Order: sequence, then C-alpha cells, then structure tokens
Amino acid sequence: MAVAHAPDSASAALVVKDLHKSFAGLEVLKGVSLEARQGDVISMIGSSGSGKSTFLRCINLLEIPDKGIVSVNGETIAMKPGPNGTQQPADMRQVDRIRSRLSMVFQNFNLWTHMTVLENVIEGPVHVLKVPREEAVARAEALLQKVGIADKRDQYPSHLSGGQQQRCAIARALAMEPQVMLFDEPTSALDPELVGEVLLVMRQLAEEGRTMIIVTHEIDFARDVSNEIVFLHEGRVEEQGPPEQVFDDPRSERCRQFVKRNR
Ligand code: ADP
Ligand code: MG
Repeated sequence: MAVAHAPDSASAALVVKDLHKSFAGLEVLKGVSLEARQGDVISMIGSSGSGKSTFLRCINLLEIPDKGIVSVNGETIAMKPGPNGTQQPADMRQVDRIRSRLSMVFQNFNLWTHMTVLENVIEGPVHVLKVPREEAVARAEALLQKVGIADKRDQYPSHLSGGQQQRCAIARALAMEPQVMLFDEPTSALDPELVGEVLLVMRQLAEEGRTMIIVTHEIDFARDVSNEIVFLHEGRVEEQGPPEQVFDDPRSERCRQFVKRNR
C-alpha cells in the first residue's frame, strides 16, 4: 500500500532553488530546484551522469554549489562570493549546524571499517551531538533492533553482508536524528537477494513520516513509497510529479523511455 504523506500545509523541511554546479567547465547541474515538506518522500531518478549524486552532495555541502540556495527547516545557508563567479559558505559554523540536520546514506555504505557496528552508530551522537555515551549506546541498541541487526552490534563491518552493512549505515544516519535523510542509490551495490531487506527498512522510515530524498533505480519501490518523483536529465529537472504521472503518463518522452528501460 502506498504511504500516506503530510498535508500540503506542512512546513518546508528542505528548499533548494536554482542549483548550479560545474566541474572543470562541465556544467553538471543547470538550475535544479526542489522543495520537500515535512514527511515528504521524494525519489530522484535519471540516467547515470545526470547529476543525481552531485545534487545530493550539494544539499549537504559535500560539494559547494556555484549558484543557488539551500535551506533546511527554514534556515538558508549563507553564501559569499567565491572565485570566478562561484560562491562559498560564509559561515562554516552554520554549515556544520545545517549538516547536522541532514544525514546521508551512500551507495557503498561508508562505514568506518575499524569500528564495530555499535561504535559506528554511537560515533556521531557522542562526538558531534555530545550525547552521554551510555545514552548513545542505549539509543544505538534500539536503532540496531529497528533495522534488524541487534545481534551484530559487536561485529566489524567486514563480517556483515552488504545488506546488513547498509542497515547499519541507516541506523548510523538515524542516530543523528536528522530532519531530512538523503539516500544515494542505497541498494545499487547490493546483491539482488539483499536489496529487499534494505528497502523494507526504508519503507518503514517512510511510513513513520520521515522526510527523505532518495536517489534510486528501484522504480517499483519509488512508486510505492514516494509522493513525488523527480526525473533528472543532463542536470535539469525534466519531469516532476506524483508517481502515477511520472511513471504512467509522463509528458517527457525521455522520461517515458527511461522508465521503460528500468522497469
Ligand atoms: P549521477 O549520480 O546521476 O550518476 P553524478 O552527479 O555522479 O551523476 O555525475 C554527474 C557528472 O558530473 C558526471 O559527468 C561526473 O563525471 C561529473 N562529476 C561528478 N563529480 C565530479 C567531480 N568531483 N569532479 C569532476 N567531475 C565530476
Ligand atoms: Mg550517482
């Protein structure tokens, strides 16, 4: 069953306006805008190289957008002029503050390999959020339970399957109590038989009303959990709307072809 989403009156959790980003003269994002209200689940689809990862990385300032605005929970990241007509953050403390409201789940999990599962999950809360260790451990245990890997708490990531590692990464993201969760192809690196267990956890988060931006090729999943789909093509939003429109009746022929190929 499709997930119910917050009413239109809900406040904006994330606003991105007219984002531009070039790498060495190659314009990868050509003015991308997106707005997520609290509880929205927005899936982004598009061919490899269309700029999906760059877009997510610009939202949490892993890349600095050349132009454009990012606001999280009503706070806009202040920018000042940079070299060659670009911009850069005016206040790194603000960047840290805004980053702490976002957490990202990566395609390749990005767990700390020298730390156990539990240590991975408590690292941020203890060292960034300054949560007392005991409290962080108790919360981490609850989160590991939630994602179904409580029995792995003292294992190192290399002893886990890809699906378990990704669920650990999701627990780690949740431990930061983010306002918005960003997922960059969270199941693309997984063996097909492990995809379902990760999607199940993500579906549960969507049902809890978490605000999520998900880059994915899992069309059926995206259709089911998202209230909005964005199709990116060569750094521009080519099609955007509710799943029924984008998947079943897109205005853009490119989008139609993309969906057909990825079904
Ligand atoms: P997607 O996630 O949709 O596959 P990306 O955002 O990863 O697309 O990449 C879009 C384009 O930007 C690609 O041509 C890629 O090679 C280029 N690109 C991404 N990151 C960098 C970087 N750090 N330096 C140079 N080029 C990059
Ligand atoms: Mg990508």
